[in-house]
Amino acid sequence: MTVSTSIGRVLIVGATGFIGRFVAEASLDAGRPTYVLVRPSSENRSKNKVDKALQDRGAILLNGLANDKELMVKLLKEHNIEIVISAVGGERILDQLSLVEAISSAGTVKRFLPSEFGHDVDRADPVEPGIQMYKEKRQVRRMVEKLDIPFTYICCNSIASWPYHDNTHPSEVIPPLDQFQIYGDGNVKAYFVAGTDIGKFTMKTVDDSRTVNKSVHFRPACNFYNMNELADLWERKIRRTLPRATVTEDDLLSVAAENRIPQSIVASFTHDIFIKGCQVNFPINGPNETEVSSLYPNEPFRTLDECFNDFLTKMEGENTKQSKENPAPKPVVEAIAITATCA
Ligand code: NDP
Repeated sequence: MTVSTSIGRVLIVGATGFIGRFVAEASLDAGRPTYVLVRPSSENRSKNKVDKALQDRGAILLNGLANDKELMVKLLKEHNIEIVISAVGGERILDQLSLVEAISSAGTVKRFLPSEFGHDVDRADPVEPGIQMYKEKRQVRRMVEKLDIPFTYICCNSIASWPYHDNTHPSEVIPPLDQFQIYGDGNVKAYFVAGTDIGKFTMKTVDDSRTVNKSVHFRPACNFYNMNELADLWERKIRRTLPRATVTEDDLLSVAAENRIPQSIVASFTHDIFIKGCQVNFPINGPNETEVSSLYPNEPFRTLDECFNDFLTKMEGENTKQSKENPAPKPVVEAIAITATCA
């Protein structure tokens, strides 16, 4: 396979993961030479399928672990990698410390995007256990800065979906069909971004000179909703109303205090977003930060309305599949043809 040398070669760490796959797909969509680091130990069938699907689209698979510094130096040099994007999961954040050292030693990398993809971890201050992940993300940031590696921190806010407080990947789940759980008074707003847009806009920043050594915040005006508005939107899609139960601040704090991983981490982030307003309680006006819609004003975001249409289609698909697998019992009495009469 011929690899273009006109645009920087990208290595994606964590491409089989939830966020990493969106980024890898977007890198391929953008026509970039895309390398994917694959954990050799992975025996997970569905993840192997993801690797294969990315390879079929042109990605080059490299075996290795982000925390194997020596190997990473070798791979970065051998393939002349210029951009590294990490999307390792929350429990492996510190694996990136060795990767950062490798990037510094290899000397080929012009931009590093560590595994962030959420809030501005230097600002947000969730309760335990969520804060622990932020402390680790901060540790990675400090090392990147100390070693003078050009970086971009992607602060993309929430994934476009119903924000279940106990699910790390809520966009894989259809919004509620029985009742809504509304956090607090349901009036605190947040930004919701489709996974494909997280990928697409991340890839736009990777060699943009305006994003070097900056945090890039995703605040698409079209996707700025509070819980009550989110519930209204879903009710319009399913054409019925659902009861709304309040989940109080204390309820969320109790789930966080249970320290069940990952549910309690998600509960602490949910508290930070929908009670404390961590996505909206600051302006973006510092010298080291910028907002993505102002960088790419002509590039549209998928709207939450469109994403909810996708959930509706998925739901209808699942219903059809279910009724094919378990067809309704045949009526005992044959239906009688009824002729409409007009008086
Ligand atoms: P996942 O757990 O879904 O995926 C993690 C990926 O990292 C997998 O591909 C895994 O490989 C790979 N990986 C882990 N450790 C290593 C290592 N040492 N070397 C190489 N590869 C490794 O992660 P998520 O997508 O959930 O999280 C990614 C980031 O996105 C996190 O920073 C998280 O906080 C954030 N996030 C943000 C969300 C939002 O709504 N804004 C939602 C979810 C996550 P393998 O396939 O072998 O397991």
